Formats: sequence, structure tokens, C-alpha cells
Amino acid sequence: MVDPLPSCPDCGSEHTYELGALVACALCGHEWSQAGATEAVDPHPRSVLDAVGNILADGDSVIVTTSIKVAGAARPIKAGTKVRNIRLIEPVNGHDIDCRVDGFGAMLLKSSVVKRA
Ligand SMILES: [Zn+2]
Repeated sequence: MVDPLPSCPDCGSEHTYELGALVACALCGHEWSQAGATEAVDPHPRSVLDAVGNILADGDSVIVTTSIKVAGAARPIKAGTKVRNIRLIEPVNGHDIDCRVDGFGAMLLKSSVVKRA
């Protein structure tokens, strides 16, 4: 016996059959694609782009392209500051990079203000 086909998502019938790349229901005639159901879950479905459109990845080094004010710090992070070993995260208030900036410590940055080094 081959892999059992899924029940019809429309009427719940088990009387389904393969129709090329589709699965069809003998009872209600509903046809659907099984592709996608077995797709692996990508931990980073979004592409995070830097200021000039390079795709960023975990572990990349980036250069800050504009001076960034830091709450509680006496000085801003200067444009040209190199940040090593970034980590991409789910955006928090538009900040999608978690990193550690020399002299400032751990902080979140926006991918729009950095350039891949
Ligand atoms: Zn059906």
C-alpha cells in the first residue's frame, strides 16, 4: 500500500484519488494540491536586506551607514562603525538585527541602516 491520501479538506471524505500533481475527491469533486503541506519550515522565511539591497545572514559583519542615536548613551554610534557577527531576528519595532556594538554592548539595529562589510 502506498502512502494514504489525505481526506478531502472540503467534505472530509476518505474517497480521494491522485490526479496528476493534484489530489481529487470522488465525493464532492474538490481538487487540491498536496505541495506545500510537506514543505520544510524555513526559520528565516523573509530575506533581510541591508541599505543597498544585499541579503544579510546570521554571522555577517556589517558597517553602520548612518549615525545612530542610542538611548542612554552619551554619544551616537558613528557611521562607519563595524559590527561583527550579527543575528537576524523577528522584527522588534522595525529592528531586525541583534548584535553587539563595541563600546555600546548588545543592541538591536535596523537592517536599513547597515551595509554588509
Ligand atoms: Zn470532498
